[in-house]
Amino acid sequence: MAGIELFGPEERKEVNDVMETGILFRYNFDEERKGHWKAREFEAQIAEFTGAKYCLTCSSGSAAVSIMLASAGVGAGDEVIVPPFTFIATIEAVLWAGAIPVFAEIDDTLNLSPEGIEAVITEKTKAVCLVHMCGSMARLDAILEVCNRHHILLLEDTAQALGTYYRDRHVGLFGKAGTFSFDFFKIITAGEGGAVITNDKDVADKMPLVSDHGHDHIGNNRGAEQHPVLGFNYRIGEMNAAVGLAQARKLPQILKIQKENKKRMKAAIARFEQITFRHIPDPQGDAATFLNFFLPDEKTARKVVEAFNDAGVTGLQYWYDNNFHYIKNWYHLKDFSVAAKLPVQVIDPERNYSEVNLPKSDDIMSRLISLVINVGWTDDELANHIDKITTALDKVLV
Ligand SMILES: *Cc1c(COP(=O)(O)O)cnc(C)c1O
Repeated sequence: MAGIELFGPEERKEVNDVMETGILFRYNFDEERKGHWKAREFEAQIAEFTGAKYCLTCSSGSAAVSIMLASAGVGAGDEVIVPPFTFIATIEAVLWAGAIPVFAEIDDTLNLSPEGIEAVITEKTKAVCLVHMCGSMARLDAILEVCNRHHILLLEDTAQALGTYYRDRHVGLFGKAGTFSFDFFKIITAGEGGAVITNDKDVADKMPLVSDHGHDHIGNNRGAEQHPVLGFNYRIGEMNAAVGLAQARKLPQILKIQKENKKRMKAAIARFEQITFRHIPDPQGDAATFLNFFLPDEKTARKVVEAFNDAGVTGLQYWYDNNFHYIKNWYHLKDFSVAAKLPVQVIDPERNYSEVNLPKSDDIMSRLISLVINVGWTDDELANHIDKITTALDKVLV
């Protein structure tokens, strides 16, 4: 939630630069734009922050996953291993690529487990699209080992993990590429926007082509450009990039405050013996966007959710019932409610997502509660928030 809490004069200044020239397009118009290249600067800022060699910004986090898949050579008929706990955009991008999502189990990191991945690998598996949910990382060492041993690509949807590091390396840089979202609800926002990062030159070379109808962006006459491959339009506009640029500069401050606030919340509930916390393989690298914890069983978790609601605890997520983040509620995927037929529906063998059985993930998700960490809280507001949480927990967990 951080980004939308911090909208201010810095964002307005960057947007005004664009308004003054009227050049809303990210390419060309070298004279008229008077030195303002917001998309380029935004890319440089994200590359510097993450330590990535290459970054391309685009129109959304969903578009970023599509660009990543295509640029890494994942396409029609390829099986891509995906988690059942993610924003559904990850799955949609795989479907829109003509590829086939294959669901695997998550573990107490809330992300795909190496064992879960290995259990669903077939000779058609091309890639794993690992999603680092709620600001913290998967068991990357073991997952990389599985991917390498089976010669499959590791791709990372890091839309919720900007500012997340594993052993001092930013997530998204462990496999071929990683993606970010700057939609209105992410750690920083551009209104709408996304990015792909990579250290792989081949992937980096393809990204701008895929995202802009194959344009090679050589010279300053768009009409005369060559098109080495087919692409699509996933471009970001300068207005969105301007907002994203100002927000990206605030990342160090956002992370610092989030980590402090999370520490206070976690310390306050650590005394409840029935509560266990999400496993974080490298606690130093947690972006601290959420405090995630488990209750011993679903029944207790539901009681706590009810008590939190009664107490007016804000920023509460019980993902197990959430429409968009867990497979249990993806009815449109399960019964293939589509506007038009998708490749997956005509590729042999027939896939049936209504019968996906993930008992480990169900168990984990049914016991999980997440609390959003804000950056705008005053000392008193946070103390008050913590008080509501612990009072509610005291009622349920006697
Ligand atoms: C938000 C999100 C996306 C999609 O990003 P948009 O910018 O909303 O298209 C993809 N994957 C995950 C894990 C997300 O949280």
